[in-house]
Amino acid sequence: MEMAVPTFLNTLGRRREPLETVTPGRVGIYTCGPTVYNHVHIGNLRTFLFEDVLRRSLRWLGYEVTQVMNLTDVDDKTIRGAEERGVSLDEYTAPFIESFFADLAALHVEPAEHYPRATRHLPEMIAIVERLLAGGFAYLKDGSVWFRIASDPDYGRLSGIDLEQVQQGERVASDEYDKEDVRDFVLWKGAKPGEPSWDSPWGPGRPGWHLECSAMSMKYLGESFDVHCGGVDNIFPHHENEIAQSESATGKPYARFWLHAEHLIVDGQKMAKSLGNTYTLKDLLARGCEPRAIRYLLLSVHYRQKLNFTFDALEGAAGALRRVDELRFRLANVPEGAEEGTHAAELAAALEGEFAAALADDLNTSAALGALFRFVKAANIAIEEGRLGRGDRARLLAALGGIDRVLGVLDPAEWPSERAAPAGPSDEEVDRLVAAREEARRRRDFARADALRGELAAAGIAVEDTPAGPRWKRG
Ligand code: AMP
Ligand code: ZN
Repeated sequence: MEMAVPTFLNTLGRRREPLETVTPGRVGIYTCGPTVYNHVHIGNLRTFLFEDVLRRSLRWLGYEVTQVMNLTDVDDKTIRGAEERGVSLDEYTAPFIESFFADLAALHVEPAEHYPRATRHLPEMIAIVERLLAGGFAYLKDGSVWFRIASDPDYGRLSGIDLEQVQQGERVASDEYDKEDVRDFVLWKGAKPGEPSWDSPWGPGRPGWHLECSAMSMKYLGESFDVHCGGVDNIFPHHENEIAQSESATGKPYARFWLHAEHLIVDGQKMAKSLGNTYTLKDLLARGCEPRAIRYLLLSVHYRQKLNFTFDALEGAAGALRRVDELRFRLANVPEGAEEGTHAAELAAALEGEFAAALADDLNTSAALGALFRFVKAANIAIEEGRLGRGDRARLLAALGGIDRVLGVLDPAEWPSERAAPAGPSDEEVDRLVAAREEARRRRDFARADALRGELAAAGIAVEDTPAGPRWKRG
């Protein structure tokens, strides 16, 4: 298969561009990770699954991927939580970190190469602040260090934010810490009594959130790297500020591509505690939802579009997966005597070509799934018409296995926690096979009719011909 160069809609510049990487054939991806002050919700998981499909797609297309996902284990929320429970930051965040990795594993997210924690990267953060101070891009005031927005003429180019409006807006908690300009953002927060703090050349304090990501991305991926991802809420101010401080410190372009996932909403509404519609993965599993179907649903909508989570949609996802299970089962039981041919090679090549083209087109997962279901339909028809033989199975199963390296949902054997996904055909499927056999008998195509009976028998289904027509039961 020829390697397709994917194109992406770059938030920076809002243009579609072919992927160009610092080192050909390799791609470095930084993905903003969770703030570990509680359990992540399915909206967060949508973004993490988008990033998983991105890394898997790039690998499938032939790239060597280095993905970094940080853990924000110090910020206002983690500090408040630890204070309320009267425990240390590490003690407070540990169970949420564990829960986060358990969720990723439950959804078959491929591990990133690095999961750096903010609290373990203080020297790297302090070094950036020192560079910014030395360059006049930052200033110290009352033990805190601020980034001077006025020093960066390019500020706002990611989000398109109008700085005049920010200036006129409310005085963004600016009385809490004193700064020169309300638009300036904090790099280093001087310690408040009782809060966890680290030593720095400016006295004890802690890093600002934006600084954490700049330090950890550049440490593991270099000062200029390929792709930076997050949810759309990260664009401003988080990513805008990361660009400003990183590029001011290094004098080099920071990330080349910025990809942002739209939000997940529930029943058409924003997730909110007050609406009682904020679900964690554990909430869904406790209701008996299939993890495989959750993964499928969350990756089925293009990442740049809002995803509306409903329990009906989740059932639809489970049903779609069962259609693939059924096809695998039928392939495994292709009757003896069916014709072998070039048909399987054509079907497999169409699936692989269309799937790759869809992913290379700004990671169009919904189009990729469209290709899968065209394949399922065509393969079912080919089996029905006796145009797929036993020798063809391997090629088709290999094609399914290949695209599942990206999707990670198709092989029921890999989801042992699944509550007995039906291995065999559904009732509707049996009805269809029985009717096809009748049809073959009417045409006096007895070889075909017997082959279909053989297929049904292999699925443990006995067909009895009665004067009123055929009846079937599961054996
Ligand atoms: P946080 O822990 O809030 O920093 O969020 C972790 C990741 O989840 C970030 O990339 C957010 O942009 C993303 N995120 C937050 N809420 C949603 C949502 N409702 N849908 C999709 N992604 C989200
Ligand atoms: Zn971040």
